[in-house]
Amino acid sequence: MSERRTALVTGGGSGIGRAIAHRLAEDGFATAVLDLNAEAAEQVAEEARQKGHEAVAFGGVDVSDRAQVNDAVQRVRDALGGPVLALVNNAGVSGFGPFLKITDETWDRIMAVNLNGPFYLCQAVVPDMKETGWGRIVNISSSSTHSGQPYMAHYVASKAGLVGFTKSLALELGPAGITVNTIPPGFIDTPMLRASEERGLLGGSVDHHAELTPVRRPGRPEDIAAACSFLVSEEAGYITGQVIGVNGGRNT
Ligand code: NAP
Repeated sequence: MSERRTALVTGGGSGIGRAIAHRLAEDGFATAVLDLNAEAAEQVAEEARQKGHEAVAFGGVDVSDRAQVNDAVQRVRDALGGPVLALVNNAGVSGFGPFLKITDETWDRIMAVNLNGPFYLCQAVVPDMKETGWGRIVNISSSSTHSGQPYMAHYVASKAGLVGFTKSLALELGPAGITVNTIPPGFIDTPMLRASEERGLLGGSVDHHAELTPVRRPGRPEDIAAACSFLVSEEAGYITGQVIGVNGGRNT
């Protein structure tokens, strides 16, 4: 793959997405950091530029809005000067509540961000990949899809949908030179995890859960970024439609 490579990471302003954006920029991708949070996206892009990498922020973009997604992808092409050949669908929102209390609004919002978002992003960038005959898509799902999770039926349903989406797209896009895989993270120390801890939703502290994890620590965003870096690399071209768990041995 000799063409200049551009990567787009959604939710790149925080946690796992931030680590992935930094890693792909280090790997030599011209990296688009897309996030709803404009300030956070700009900060990540600026940090990467300070290290000598090429990165541009696309803040204030909601992945659940198709028009905003299409507009942002065009701006990414214009700013970074080429087709988008690696896409990481990482932006996601969580939810917690008894099943009978889940409202239509909450259900719809979680589906809109976690499932419609990747649908819109893939439809926006797959034409670039097809034209080039090369592409890499990584969808960040959740280890909760292996086991289910009480009080998170909406979130887990959205992420399980993303797993099925990944497998189906892999079969359809393989002949075009595009791989599609999913990483379901488990117990990664990010603002999302700490917010759940603070609200008492983890059933114990992060430290307590670390003791119960086979590798005896919470995951780091960099653990997900490392797997992602491999999946978008040239040498991962024979890996597609796979669920690559990065979870310290939990949910195996
Ligand atoms: P995080 O720290 O909350 O970061 C998520 C980022 O996505 C935030 O910057 C957020 O912006 C942004 N975002 C949210 N909704 C968006 C939207 N509609 N459009 C664009 N950007 C949006 O979360 P994280 O823990 O790094 O999680 C990243 C992904 O991993 C998520 O898909 C999550 O479900 C998945 N995951 C995480 C864990 C874990 O242990 N941490 C486990 C399983 C799965 P705002 O801050 O403005 O909302």
